[in-house]
Amino acid sequence: MIWIGDVLVSRGEGGVYNERMLGGARVWDPYRSKLAALYFTGTGRDITQEMRVLYLGAANGTTVSHVADCAEVVYAVEFAPRPMQDLLEVARRRRNVVPIMADAARPEQYAPLVEAVDLLYQDVAQPEQAAIVLRNCAFLKTGGDLILMLKTRSVDVRKEPGEVFRDTADALEAGGLEITESVWLAPYHQDHAAIICRKIRTGGSA
Ligand code: SAM
Repeated sequence: MIWIGDVLVSRGEGGVYNERMLGGARVWDPYRSKLAALYFTGTGRDITQEMRVLYLGAANGTTVSHVADCAEVVYAVEFAPRPMQDLLEVARRRRNVVPIMADAARPEQYAPLVEAVDLLYQDVAQPEQAAIVLRNCAFLKTGGDLILMLKTRSVDVRKEPGEVFRDTADALEAGGLEITESVWLAPYHQDHAAIICRKIRTGGSA
């Protein structure tokens, strides 16, 4: 990733969400983007120019736009019509963003559009986060990485965040993923954990 001093940036056309520019690059704000927050914790996976990324929960393309600055192609899945309009504008200005309006829980709907990817990123804030990501692991190359942004309160408000984290970790491991790192994203994002995994065996059902 690119740092200018202690500021994280990506190199691409600005003006996506009124982001600041620094030295001709786009400032990537950890309070606006969980992926940026992950890099600020000192963990995460570098995204490089030859990588294909499947991004679940694209919203209005804030983080997608930065990922697209780094990767070869980003398949960006979002099911809500309003953010999709903004995502389409991001895709109009970045030729390597493929916007897909679909439910990430039903990957068979977009399977014909998506190639095998090096990185699977999920930020859907849904109760079934682990189940959704496991269904999409069919697109992830063996040896590829998953970054799951787990919003514990979306999974079950009655459970302690730590318990939700452990249940999710168990489900991911049972699905053929090896957890390589995990970190809580406070103070940037409360009740959010990032879980980073490697796909160690074939799985998924898309
Ligand atoms: N990743 C975005 C960013 O950093 O700019 C923010 C994502 S926001 C927390 C979660 C998004 O996931 C929402 O836009 C929501 O509509 C979308 N979402 C939730 N469940 C989904 C599903 N099953 N399929 C597709 N999108 C989903």
